[in-house]
Order: sequence, then C-alpha cells, then structure tokens
Amino acid sequence: MPPTGKDALRTRVQELVDKNPVMVFSKSYCPYCIQVKELFTSLGKEYVALELDECDDGSSIQEVLHELTGLRTVPSVFVNKTHVGGCDKTLQAHRDGTLQKLLDKDAVTYDYDLIVIGGGSGGLACSKEASSLGKKVMVFDYVVPTPLGTSWGLGGTCVNVGCIPKKLMHQAALLGHSLKDSRKFGWEYDEQVQHNWDTMRQNIQDYIGSLNWGYRVSLRDKNVRYENAYAEFVEPHKIKATNRKGKESFFTAEKFVIATGERPRYLGVPGDKEFCITSDDLFSLSYCPGKTLVVGASYVALECAGFLAGIGLDVTVMVRSIFLRGFDQEMAEKAGAYMESHGVKFIKKFVPTSVEQLEPGMPGRLRVVAKSTESDQIIEGEYNTVLVAVGRDSCTRKIGLEKIGVTLNERNGKIPVNDEEQTNVPSVYAIGDILDGKWELTPVAIKAGRLLARRLYGGANLKCDYINVPTTVFTPLEYGCCGYSEEKAIEVFGKEALEVYHTLFWPLEWTVPGRDNNKCFAKIICNKLDYERVVGFHVLGPNAGEITQGYAAAMKCGLTKEKLDETIGIHPTCAEIFTTMEVTKSSGGDISQKGC
Ligand code: FAD
Ligand code: NAP
Repeated sequence: MPPTGKDALRTRVQELVDKNPVMVFSKSYCPYCIQVKELFTSLGKEYVALELDECDDGSSIQEVLHELTGLRTVPSVFVNKTHVGGCDKTLQAHRDGTLQKLLDKDAVTYDYDLIVIGGGSGGLACSKEASSLGKKVMVFDYVVPTPLGTSWGLGGTCVNVGCIPKKLMHQAALLGHSLKDSRKFGWEYDEQVQHNWDTMRQNIQDYIGSLNWGYRVSLRDKNVRYENAYAEFVEPHKIKATNRKGKESFFTAEKFVIATGERPRYLGVPGDKEFCITSDDLFSLSYCPGKTLVVGASYVALECAGFLAGIGLDVTVMVRSIFLRGFDQEMAEKAGAYMESHGVKFIKKFVPTSVEQLEPGMPGRLRVVAKSTESDQIIEGEYNTVLVAVGRDSCTRKIGLEKIGVTLNERNGKIPVNDEEQTNVPSVYAIGDILDGKWELTPVAIKAGRLLARRLYGGANLKCDYINVPTTVFTPLEYGCCGYSEEKAIEVFGKEALEVYHTLFWPLEWTVPGRDNNKCFAKIICNKLDYERVVGFHVLGPNAGEITQGYAAAMKCGLTKEKLDETIGIHPTCAEIFTTMEVTKSSGGDISQKGC
C-alpha cells in the first residue's frame, strides 16, 4: 500500500531531496529564501525550489522538514542530499568553501573553470580578472577575414579596427586644422603642406601591432591560456575550436562567457562585397582611398567621413534618413552642419542600389547608382572608394547557440541577459556589443566583463550600471553626451517637467585664427520636478570627450543645475561654459556669443 498522510509527505520530501542536486524549500515572499536562490543563480547552479506558501500542504511539509532536520524555518537547503541549513548557514558555507565542495561532490570535472569566446575589450578584461581570482581560464580569439581579405591581431574591434585607429586618424585631421591655425599664431613655413596616407597608416598600424603584442604578453603573465581559433558550442559545457589550418580541438568548461562582438553589415546590393570597403578594411588600407563615398550616417560613418575630409580627401556622405539616430537631433544636426561647412558633401535621403567597377586600381574607379527614399529619382556618381558604414551584425549566429539552447533575439541577433549578464542557460554569460539593448562601447564591455568575473569568482555583488553612460562621437566637431537626448527626456518626463539651458560658445583658441564662431554648443536638460537634476548633458566642441567624462562623474553623483551654478569654472576653457549657463530654451533668449 502506498504511504498516506504524513508518511506520504515524508516520502515526497525525501524524493525531492534525493532527485535534485540543489533543493530549496522556500516561501516565495521570504527575503532570506530569495537571497539563497540568488546565490545559486550567481554560482550558475540550477536549483529546484518548492514554494511552501504556494502548496496546499505547505505547513505540513514544513513540519516534516522540522522532524527531518531540526530546522523549522525556511529556507531549508539541501545540496547533493546533505542538509546545509537556512540562509545564514548556506551563506557561511559559501564563504568558507564547504558549499562548493558539496556542489562538486558528484560534479563532472572540466578542463577549465571558464572559457571566454572572443578576445576583444570585454573578453580580455573578463578572462584576466577571472584568472587573477585563481580560476583556470582559456580565451579564444579568431578574426574571420573581411571579403577583401583584411585581418588583424589580438584585442578585438576597439584596438584594431575601431576606437584606436579611428581616434588617431581623427587626430591626424585635427592636426591639419591646427596647422592652418598656426599661421595666425606666428608659425611660418613656405613648403606646401600635404598629407601622406602611407605614413599615417604605417605609424598607426605599428602602434596597434605593439598593443596586440602587449595583450598576448599580459594574457601569458596572468596565466590565461590563449588560442587563436574559432570557437563554437557543441554541447552545453563543450566547445569545438578550429584553428587557421582547419585543425579541430575540443575543450570543456564549467562556465562560458560569450564576447564575440560585431562585424560590419553590407548593403546587400550588387557589387557591395566585391568593390566596397568597410571600417574593417579602412584603417589598414594600403593606399589612400581618394575620392570617397561614405554610406550611412551614424557614429562610424560620420567619424570616418570627418577624418577623411580632414586629411584633405573629397568626401561625400549618403544619408538614408537622419544623422546619428538615437542621439539628440539638435546636436546631431549641428555636428553635421559643421562637417558640411568644412567641405564634406551630403546626399540626403538616398540609398545605393548598385556599385560597379569602372577601373581596377589602388584606388580604382567605381560607379555608384542610388535611389531616392522619397521619390523615383535615380542618381549616379563616380568615386575611388565606397565605404559602407550601415551598422554592424552580432557574431552570434554561427557559434552553436542553438545546440545549447541559448536564446537569441531573432530580430537583431543579440543575446538577452539578466542584470548579471547571465543568459537563459545558467552556465553561459554574455558581455559587450552582442548584448540586447545595451551600449556598444569599449568601456562598457570592459566594465561588464570585469564585474562579471568578480561576481562569479570574487564573492562580489556589484553589477554593471548601464545608466548614464557617457559617450562621444569623434566628428570633426566632437559631440559628447551623457543621459537623455531632449527627445527622449520629453518622452520620459514630459515637456512641462523639463527646463533646457543652452548656449553657443567660441573656444578661445579659435578666436585668433578667426574661425567658427557660434558653432560650438552646450545644452543641459534638467528635471524641474526633481531639484532641476541634470538628466541630459550635451556638448559640441573641441575635446568634447574630455569634458563629458568629468561631468558624467558629476551626474553619477546626482548633479543638479544649482550645483553647476555653485561650481567655479576653470578659465579659459570650453568646459567652464556649463558653470555659467543662464538662457533657457523656453525663454527664447539670445544664445550667440559676442566675445570672450
Ligand atoms: P570586440 O572588441 O568586437 O571583440 C570580439 C572578438 O571576438 C573579436 O576579436 C572577434 O574576432 C572575436 N570572435 C568573434 N567570434 C569568435 C569566435 N566564434 N571564436 C573566437 N573569436 C571570435 N567604442 C568606444 O567606446 N569608443 C570609440 O571611440 C569607438 N569607436 C569605434 C569605431 C569603430 C569604427 C567601431 C567599429 C567601433 C567603435 N567602438 C567604439 C565600439 C567598440 O569597438 C566596441 O564596443 C567594443 O570593441 C566591443 O567589445 P566586445 O568585447 O564586445 O567585442
Ligand atoms: P548604427 O549606429 O547602427 O548606424 C547605422 C547607420 O547606417 C544609420 O545611419 C542607418 O540609417 C544607416 N543605414 C542602415 N542601413 C542602411 C542602408 N541599407 N542604406 C543606407 N544607410 C543605412 O551603426 P554604426 O555607426 O556602425 O555604429 C555601431 C555601434 O558602434 C554604435 O552603436 C556605437 O555604440 C559603436 N561606435 C562607437 C563609437 C564611439 O564611441 N565614438 C564610434 C563608432 C561606433 P538610419 O538612421 O536610416 O537607420
């Protein structure tokens, strides 16, 4: 006869304890129960929880547990059939390592504690930190060459084909401008000034080479095993790695971090992959690109168009809709207008439909046909180079995620994670550009990677804060911002809740050369219902990145307009403008600058 009454409950409790490696008897509203469940989640350990408040016989089960363990309260935690205790005892066991030993009792052994796929900004930060915390770590990095065959070394996008060469080429362009200004400051030179692409490219590539080398050395110093191979999942805890020669090897790990980044998207029109380049090719291009068409109007497109024009090339940007989607449009328009006044041509509301090679060469000649997005109008033009900068695709579709059940956002290929960067598969985490709905910026990937390793292996609980992340677009006139755009702030807080302070300004350095007065612009968006807290910070001017970084720290501390007014400026700088802003947008007052 099957047991009845209390006997049946005893059998049920015993079965739950025997069947589940981690069994938590819990109550859904109990904060201590939540704490232990969060602990197991953070350890990547699956657990089964029986919520006694949601069972009809919950109080009887609690009595059985009392009989069995001497513990009346919840949580009551069992690991591999051993009763650990309640919340305090479980946390203590975690601290002194006995919990891990219990968890490992029947555990399979793996080659590594952690395997990181992708040796870019996020992956390198995470793997080095995990190794410093005593874990056995391996990192894979492999660059699939571009359709034109361009490839690069360890370090990911930022170092090789992103932030670093971009900022250095931006600097090359700024120096050109400074050279022109310098005459007004007394510098005299007779020779014709010209720019040499090969010199710039070679010196920048040499510097990048030194960074690639530095990354290899630091991985070795930190005891992280690095393999230059393409990694993909074959089982939940196993990956296949394929090296350049096609040799396959297999490795297992307890946990995985996916940090595979993104690669440029193509247009999908005839001739694009054959004849166009992307930012992945541009920075190491072995010849000067000449007359260039840049397709796209976001970060990458405008930055590249800006420095190419700045070193003296004939540059046209083909814009499908607006500048810098997602950014404050008043600022974006002003950044674009400055580029236009400095020689960049814009073809607005057109998209390319084909690219044809007229003549091969370095550079060759290309014909681009484009159609209007608003009418039937077709136009065509001839260029030496077409740079496609129409966004980037996540490298998540060819890494075997379907084999292990990691959920992707099918629309954009990004990986959704919880606030601890954990995917729906508890042993798999993701960081950096591939995250759904997060920033695609190097410092964000680094911070997320480092904090993840500390939470997994260092007993820390600090999570990556994705709010008020500052960023700068390195257009010829740099645009830095932190917090909400004006459009988004209106959507979130309502127009009536906001006060916008704004002003044009003229950097002192530009006065003597007599250039670009009333082009630089500063704007803050304040929430009147919250002590005029600054919810949006925007600056368009030289060194905008440097300025924004400082004010971003102040925003983290809850910056208000009053605090800005109390702050004494540093004179003469551009940054001081934020300490003296008086004109509100709603007043319609004059914001032009008459002098210093
Ligand atoms: P990545 O740095 O892209 O690293 C991913 C690595 O994984 C790559 O090396 C890739 O080859 C490798 N990989 C992919 N799949 C596999 C696999 N299956 N096996 C092994 N290896 C694999 N950000 C800023 O903050 N400031 C800037 O000024 C800035 N400028 C930029 C300019 C350009 C032109 C571009 C394109 C980007 C720029 N960014 C900038 C963005 C920044 O580069 C990224 O946000 C950052 O590199 C993301 O880091 P990550 O670790 O997510 O990926
Ligand atoms: P993006 O922000 O996704 O912008 C894509 C651009 O291409 C948009 O202007 C878009 O126009 C246009 N576009 C898309 N499809 C097109 C088509 N078929 N024809 C013509 N135009 C098309 O991409 P991104 O500039 O490559 O930047 C990617 C990420 O890298 C950014 O989100 C950023 O975080 C990071 N990044 C950072 C920096 C920095 O920190 N300074 C610099 C570069 C990149 P619509 O607006 O019409 O869609």
